[in-house]
Parts: sequence; C-alpha cells; structure tokens
Amino acid sequence: MALIVQKFGGTSVGSTERIKNVAKRVARWRAQGHQLVVVPSAMSGETNRLISLAKEISPQPDPRELDVVASTGEQVTIGLLSMALMEQGVKAKSYTGAQVKVLTDSAFTTARIERIDENRMRADLEAGFVVVVAGFQGVDAAGNITTLGRGGSDTSAVALAAALKADECQIYTAVDGVYTTDPRIVPEARRLDTITFEEMLEMASLGSKVLQIRSVEFAGKYKVKLRVLSSFEDKEGPGTLITYEEDPKMEKAVISGIAFNHDEAKITVMGVPDRPGVAYQILGPIGEANIDVDMIIQNASVDNMTDFSFTVNRSEYAKAMDVLNKQVKSHIKAADIRGDAKVCKVSLVGVGMRTHAGVAGKMFRTLAEEGINIQMISTSEIKVAVVIDEKYMELAVRALHKAFGLDQPQ
Ligand code: ADP
Ligand code: ASP
Ligand code: MG
Repeated sequence: MALIVQKFGGTSVGSTERIKNVAKRVARWRAQGHQLVVVPSAMSGETNRLISLAKEISPQPDPRELDVVASTGEQVTIGLLSMALMEQGVKAKSYTGAQVKVLTDSAFTTARIERIDENRMRADLEAGFVVVVAGFQGVDAAGNITTLGRGGSDTSAVALAAALKADECQIYTAVDGVYTTDPRIVPEARRLDTITFEEMLEMASLGSKVLQIRSVEFAGKYKVKLRVLSSFEDKEGPGTLITYEEDPKMEKAVISGIAFNHDEAKITVMGVPDRPGVAYQILGPIGEANIDVDMIIQNASVDNMTDFSFTVNRSEYAKAMDVLNKQVKSHIKAADIRGDAKVCKVSLVGVGMRTHAGVAGKMFRTLAEEGINIQMISTSEIKVAVVIDEKYMELAVRALHKAFGLDQPQ
C-alpha cells in the first residue's frame, strides 16, 4: 500500500463526464488499497473566465479580492469530484486550501507555500477516505485567501506530497508525459521515459508549461517522486519520471528537449555612454518597479557610446517602457529607447551538453539555414536560448527538433 498524491489538470476535469472518469480512475487506485490525496484544478477555462469577470469590474483588480474570486474554480471541482467518488462507492471528503490548511505568504496572486498542516488529511486517510484538496489556493497567516500563480495546482500537489511524505506524486494531464517539445507544435515529438530534475527545471523556466516551475523547485527540494501521466488513457502508461540522479550507464541524448515562450518583449536603450554604473542606472528602476529581467546584452562601444538590450515578460513591456521613458532616458542621456513586443525565446535543454561541444554552433547553423535572424543569445551549462522574431517560432522549433534528431527514437 502506498500513499499517492494525484493531480488532475483543467482539461482532465473539464466537464462532469470527465470528472466522473477521474473518479473511476481514482476508485481503481483505491481498490488496490492505496491511500490517495487528489488535487483537481478548476474546470478548463474557468480561471480565465473568473479573472475576466474581475477585470470587467476593475481593470486592475485589487489582488486580495482577485484571489477571492479566482480561487473559487477549484472549490467547485473538489465538491463535484468528491460526489463523483461517492457515486463510485468510495468514501471521499473535500477541503479548500484554507481548511487543510495550506499556509502561504501574503503575495496575492503569486503566493508561496510556507507550511501544510497534515493532521486532518492524515486522520481521514487512516479512516479510509480519499482526501480531495483544492489546488492553486492557500491561506495566509491573517486568514486571507491566496492563490499560487497560474498553473499553481501542480505546486499544490507536489507540496502536499512533500508534507505527507507521499510515495509518489502523479500529475495527470492531457498528454501522457513530458515530450521532447510541445506535441501541439511538433507532432513528431516523443515522450521521454525520464527527464532529470535539472532539465525539467530549465524546461519549465524557459516556457514549457507542462509543469509549473515552482512545482519542480519544490519537488527538487524535498526529492518528491514526481511523474507526469495521461488522464485520457484507460490504463495509465509509465508516463515520464523526473529523476534526481543521472544514470552514468545510460547513453544520454545531447539534447533532451526544446522549450519556447512567446510571452517575451525586447527593449533596447540606444546611444548610452559606456561607463561604470550605466547598467545599474537602467536596470535599477526596472527592478524597483518589480519587473523581472531575463536576457541582457551590452554591445561593444563605439566612441564610448553603446546600446543596451534586455528582455522582459510581455505583460510587463508597457510598464517597463514607461519606467525607462520617465525615469531613465533623460537621466542617462540615452539617444532613444526602442521596444519590440513581437519576439519569442526558443531554447535547447540537455544535460548531455556538459560533455558535448558544438551544440550552440549547430543551433545557429540550423536557424541560419531557415533564414531566421538571432537577436539575442544566452547560454548555461545545460541550455542554449535565443531570442528571435515570434513569427518564426514554430519554424525554428520544428527545424531544431529535426536537426538534433529528436524526431527519431533514441
Ligand atoms: P493541465 O491543465 O493538465 O495543467 P497544461 O495545459 O498546464 O495542463 O499542461 C499540459 C500541456 O503542456 C500539454 O497539453 C502540452 O500541449 C503542453 N506542453 C508544452 N511543452 C510540453 C512538453 N515538453 N511535454 C509535454 N507537454 C508539453
Ligand atoms: N486553475 C488554475 C489556473 O488555471 C491553476 C491550475 O490550473 O493549475 O491557472
Ligand atoms: Mg498546468
């Protein structure tokens, strides 16, 4: 008998019919004698609908009240799923994040989990109940409802698994595992049996939305056994297991996956003096405005003047331009500030890069052969990322997927 946390994403609970199917799957696991904590997301599209309702009332909703609204989608699915389980003859009980309690900090809309009280869940599990806990939500020390950021149910599930020292955390979704890239863009993408924790962390942070990045961080910190599986197959296959140690005997592909993200925007501050302090004068006010900066490039200077470019999330582009125009431009006597909100980032990820040279070169050659101009580059030990025009994103991903042999069985 094992203790398993199972998370079901929005599409998996997108209709009452699908909720009934989830209940049947959970009932099968229960019948094998396992203890189960089940974490549903809101029905697909519901969180978007709730957020747009809030924005119809207030263009920039109060974050505390927005969380009160956005968290309700999951309250519906925990109740419905518990009922569906009872219809299957399975004892079940639902809890909101606050009831559990999933204690978070007070950063509304992007709260972090600090502690989880496991007592109530433990007692119910011992009494034979399936415990159904709302994903995406928690409560702060003052009793305010909080949410964990979009896609946050993954993090709820992994955090519950860590708190309960579960034997496994299973993330059920519309695809049957983690693929070499998003199968919606590249139909030839292949499921990976395993992916290392480091690779999954890079993939998630570079835009692959199959797991929320915080869930991967959490899994790494507590070494949670984490598996991604399909909720649409009658009998679940092996899915993809996130591993914490590389198997030295296994011949690893150089590249494990390709991530991409079109929520990017590039900003260039033109004609700035090349002297100490300029990067700070540009990026200081951006940081103070709580805008995250991703890639940064400073060109070689001509006559002591240079251009300074960086990328931000597209949702923060207008805010960043405003900060630069109002607080920075005249202060540092920049010639101009130019922005491009139609760029994307495409990244290759793989621990095999540590031992194989030439990955970046091959990437650049492949893009050149497709006539795709590279605007920015950033690398780490296990990734190469480029910023390109967003209209070439799919072409770039497909060409790279082929060039690095990811279409072929390894
Ligand atoms: P859920 O609603 O279950 O949380 P998400 O939509 O958040 O599901 O994440 C699953 C989706 O992530 C898949 O349908 C797939 O299109 C997309 N995806 C992106 N990159 C990958 C990848 N490398 N492997 C698998 N799925 C991916
Ligand atoms: N329902 C939330 C969202 O749409 C959380 C989740 O699905 O993981 O972001
Ligand atoms: Mg998700």
